[in-house]
Amino acid sequence: MALPLPHPALTAADPELAALVGAEELLQAETLRLIPSENYVSAAVLEASGTVLQNKYSEGYPGRRYYEGQQNIDPVESLAVARAKALFGSDHANVQPYSGSPANLAVYLAFAEPGDTVMGMALPMGGHLTHGWGVSATGSWFRGVQYGVRRDTGLIDFDEVRDLALKERPRIIFCGGTALPRTIDFAAFAEIARETGAVLVADIAHIAGLVAGGAHPSPVPHVDVVSTTTHKTLRGPRGAMLMAREEHAKAVDKAVFPGLQGGPHNQTTAAIAVALKEAAAPSFRDYAHAVVANARALADALLERGHDLVSGGTDNHLILIDLTARDVPGKVAAKALDRAGIVVNYNTVPYDPRKPFDPSGIRIGTPSLTSRGLTTEHMPAVAEWIDRAVAAAAGGDEDTLAAVRAEVAGLMAAHPAPGLPV
Ligand SMILES: *Cc1c(COP(=O)(O)O)cnc(C)c1O
Repeated sequence: MALPLPHPALTAADPELAALVGAEELLQAETLRLIPSENYVSAAVLEASGTVLQNKYSEGYPGRRYYEGQQNIDPVESLAVARAKALFGSDHANVQPYSGSPANLAVYLAFAEPGDTVMGMALPMGGHLTHGWGVSATGSWFRGVQYGVRRDTGLIDFDEVRDLALKERPRIIFCGGTALPRTIDFAAFAEIARETGAVLVADIAHIAGLVAGGAHPSPVPHVDVVSTTTHKTLRGPRGAMLMAREEHAKAVDKAVFPGLQGGPHNQTTAAIAVALKEAAAPSFRDYAHAVVANARALADALLERGHDLVSGGTDNHLILIDLTARDVPGKVAAKALDRAGIVVNYNTVPYDPRKPFDPSGIRIGTPSLTSRGLTTEHMPAVAEWIDRAVAAAAGGDEDTLAAVRAEVAGLMAAHPAPGLPV
């Protein structure tokens, strides 16, 4: 049952809600969290995001606000901006976007008019909704044209991207995505953007922590704008940032406020500042490289067990398992893994023969387990659990799922997660 609750005021005021928070703490402590867009923030980041900065309105930017009483808020935001610029080597940073999707909307507002053509990777190929996909506002207010990956290699075909860009002349090209297991060649995208006169945006929401830690090449020298969330591999609070070349600084700021948003979430800005300080420490470089080493080791162990991985493996934190040949749909596998204490998400694979709500893949990643101190030595066991649970899913073998869950909980107990009560 629930751990002793470390939230006395909440427990007194609203025991029902406090119990749910306690249950979530227990769930996050006991399970092996493999969702590649999730992580565990530090206790310091968690504290910063729960402060009285919550109480303050600050429309505008440091030194140019529409409300008084910014004596402490201005330096908080300036600190976050300075740390972002220093960590990523960018000319300009805006730390106010509420999350990754609004950050991308601000990019459209800054550089395109409704109806303009924009280009990004198709969602089922590994892109993001906000890169011009049809069901997103970005695909209905703009004319989205989409590139994919090659069927034979699972890799981006730059001849296809170039041909499409020359034919369609998009105002904006997005690179980056949500299910890309391989290094993004920002220089190749930059050449195409230059040739076609497009604004190039690198959406590094997933890999920002790897970029910060030197475990993935940086887009900053190659692109006009960098968009990122702060809560994935970067290990900060739920939020986002836009970074840009100096020439685009004004356009980006104007688009975020007053173009799209009102008051910034100052408690989040503070937590972003803390996360950026943590990400600048030498230990974060070790973390970023360990995330990639763990993903490679996990991919190798899965391949050894005969699993089919999109693109044949991984260069980063993420692995896309293609279950097409296994006779277990992604959703069935994901739900069985969840019962086994292994939290993943079902996902389309490129050229998926099944429907998006019932696709053929599961997407996994190593940011969270690495934050708990798991190493490459643990990855064969993780692969074995996944393998057993997927096989049990096919046969409806609940006993095996329960046995795996107990083994997982044992390893997790030996590796407490940052920020959680022990
Ligand atoms: C996660 C993600 C986003 C969106 O972030 P939210 O905070 O969920 O709105 C945007 N782009 C990419 C590539 C992402 O992975």
